[in-house]
Amino acid sequence: MKKFVLVLSLVLMTAFTGCSGGGTAPTASTEATPNIQKIKDKGVLKVGVKVDVPKFGYKNPETQVIEGMEIDIAKAIAKEILGDENKIEFQAVTAKTRGPLLDSGELDLVIATFTITEERKESYNFSQPYFVDGVALLVKKDKGFTSYKDLDGKAIGVAQSATSKKALEEAAVEQGISVKFSEYASYPEIKAALESGRVDAFSVDAAILNGYLDENSEILADRFSPQEYGVASKKSNTDLAKVVDDLISEMKSNGELDSLIEKWGIK
Ligand code: GLU
Repeated sequence: MKKFVLVLSLVLMTAFTGCSGGGTAPTASTEATPNIQKIKDKGVLKVGVKVDVPKFGYKNPETQVIEGMEIDIAKAIAKEILGDENKIEFQAVTAKTRGPLLDSGELDLVIATFTITEERKESYNFSQPYFVDGVALLVKKDKGFTSYKDLDGKAIGVAQSATSKKALEEAAVEQGISVKFSEYASYPEIKAALESGRVDAFSVDAAILNGYLDENSEILADRFSPQEYGVASKKSNTDLAKVVDDLISEMKSNGELDSLIEKWGIK
């Protein structure tokens, strides 16, 4: 099949250059396009992932191995491009560092609970979504909060560069409440602020909050603003973006994505 695609693209390329004098060659395969070739020359795919999001990108404290659905997606991409799912180098990223690491070329891809937004699409290529989450609230059990409405007048801790604040601002308007925000650089800092009572709730996507849940805290049932996660690449890496998007399409239609969701016990 790959051979067929290659032959077809070569035929098309010849046809295009032959008649249009400078037309764009199609990039239907992973062969010979500039950014894909660079990755092949390096022999390794560099991927930014989360290490604190259980089931998505998580460094297992017992094995020290980074695992999860996003790790498996990265492996499938490495297999597609380099023929080997292990030819991959993972780097831990946060909401704040993942964009700049793509910009600098240090990473080829980011697969790290990265929500697709119109604004971000101006700076990065995103694949179609591979998962949809929602913004949620983590609170201390002993406070007795049961819904967002109970947080009227309270302080909420959110991460810088995350979509959470905007989602909650919109929801506050809808629900006729008013909340205050404190922004932090990292999730452990927000959790510490929740523990010490500097904030009354910690808000981010439910998947991420799961990594900070303990016996004294709970995630409220409310969900805000669907968060569609996409695989991101540097804006100029259009050939890589196409290969990734095609693969996500394939994984959706052949059931592989659903199998991963099941494998990791994600609802
Ligand atoms: N998914 C949200 C975002 O992209 C939350 C932040 C995060 O992924 O860490 O903004």
